[in-house]
Amino acid sequence: MKFKNHIPIFPYSSISFTFAPMYDIIIIGGGIVGTASAYKLNMHHPQLKILVLEKDKIAAHQTGHNSGVIHSGLYYKPGSYKAKNCVDGRRELVAFAREHNIPHDICGKIIVASDKSELEFMNKAYNNGLQNGVEGIEKISTAQIKEIEPYAVGIEGVWVPCTGIIDFAAVTRKYVELVEQKFSGSKVMEGEEVIAFEKTADSTKVVTKKSSYEARYIINCSGMNCDRIAKKDGVNPDMKIVGFRGDYYDLTEQGKEKVRNLIYPVPNPAFPFLGVHFTRMITGETECGPNAVFTFKREGYGKTDFNLKDTIDSLTYGGTWKLFFKQWRFDLDEYRRAFSKRLFLERLQKLIPSLTMDDIQPGRAGVRAMALDHDGNMIDDFKIEHSGNSLHVLNAPSPAATASLAIGNAIRIMADERFNLN
Ligand SMILES: Cc1cc2nc3c(=O)[nH]c(=O)nc-3n(C[C@H](O)[C@H](O)[C@H](O)COP(=O)(O)OP(=O)(O)OC[C@H]3O[C@@H](n4cnc5c(N)ncnc54)[C@H](O)[C@@H]3O)c2cc1C
Repeated sequence: MKFKNHIPIFPYSSISFTFAPMYDIIIIGGGIVGTASAYKLNMHHPQLKILVLEKDKIAAHQTGHNSGVIHSGLYYKPGSYKAKNCVDGRRELVAFAREHNIPHDICGKIIVASDKSELEFMNKAYNNGLQNGVEGIEKISTAQIKEIEPYAVGIEGVWVPCTGIIDFAAVTRKYVELVEQKFSGSKVMEGEEVIAFEKTADSTKVVTKKSSYEARYIINCSGMNCDRIAKKDGVNPDMKIVGFRGDYYDLTEQGKEKVRNLIYPVPNPAFPFLGVHFTRMITGETECGPNAVFTFKREGYGKTDFNLKDTIDSLTYGGTWKLFFKQWRFDLDEYRRAFSKRLFLERLQKLIPSLTMDDIQPGRAGVRAMALDHDGNMIDDFKIEHSGNSLHVLNAPSPAATASLAIGNAIRIMADERFNLN
């Protein structure tokens, strides 16, 4: 603790006054994007005093509830921020993991087309990969699919050797450790929920449930809450966050024998989800999932979780209804699968037909922050906006964990320009 908020007026008196400790930058959100931004900012500007405020624990939400896949950069539209930041960020992340001994494995993955209707999009993803500079990708035949994953079945596939697995919560903890150890003016505080801002001419008082802190600049990396934090800062984000829960199943010991590494379907181009896939985790477990179900609670990991404020917020937004009307059949199917192991299994059997009910058991869940525009379109690319003395990260979906160092660097460059840090 570098500052004391409450200073007693007399040594033995309980009478005290409060003041807000002054920082250069306060980052709201201790997920992988917020902490990577603090790390990148401090690496370029060691003198900056940066405070990261996290309402729960570090990596408590999307960062600690994802598939743990280091994505290659294959799926994303050439020229998009996602494509560029995923490829650059992946290379930097792997080098970072090697340097800091973070367990990871560049084991490669296969994408499997189950029928002819999927070939067009599989080829599109392959060509995107070539344009995005994804190393070593190769089209593979049915026989080659079998050589790599003996239980997987498909008519054609793509081999992506530079995909890997890692624990993103461990990466986030390393960013925090480096920021706190290397830069004496900076720190990360857990259990500090930001609830309001009070602006003065050249600084912002950031009020939390417990205390308040002051900074010249604010960076909003609050994931699921980024639209609400932006509003509290006087910004109209022109979008809304809607939560989509993803349920996973674990492979049982006998099921694990059917998967060596990572097996992905060809994603449906109409949806921004990669489809249920098999993932060997760095912890030794193998998971399959996630599906994508609208959730009535932004940070609700249970199938029946409900939060009135989140529900009203979502259902009073025109964009949510437009999305429902556009993709009601997909939503309904995903709902049915969420409550039926057999239907979930059927989906998985598209990739591994010999998988049985005894090969899978219910696992954990994650919730994705999907940014929706007024027309019900899910905003696909990363989105960071500037307003006055603040930057707001308004959309950082997958592959933002893979791309965290590249996004952190993009935020650092924006901060250099907008906040005149140089
Ligand atoms: C199911 C699932 C699977 C995924 N798989 C992958 C994958 O394999 N590979 C990949 O690269 N990406 C994947 N992603 C995406 C990736 O996890 C996210 O893009 C990334 O974690 C976003 O990081 P973040 O820091 O923006 O958000 P978060 O990790 O959600 O962090 C935001 C933080 O802000 C805090 N916060 C919110 N409000 C406040 C407040 N008022 N005051 C203080 N703190 C606040 C929250 O508690 C939270 O810790 C997946 C995501 C999900 C959900």
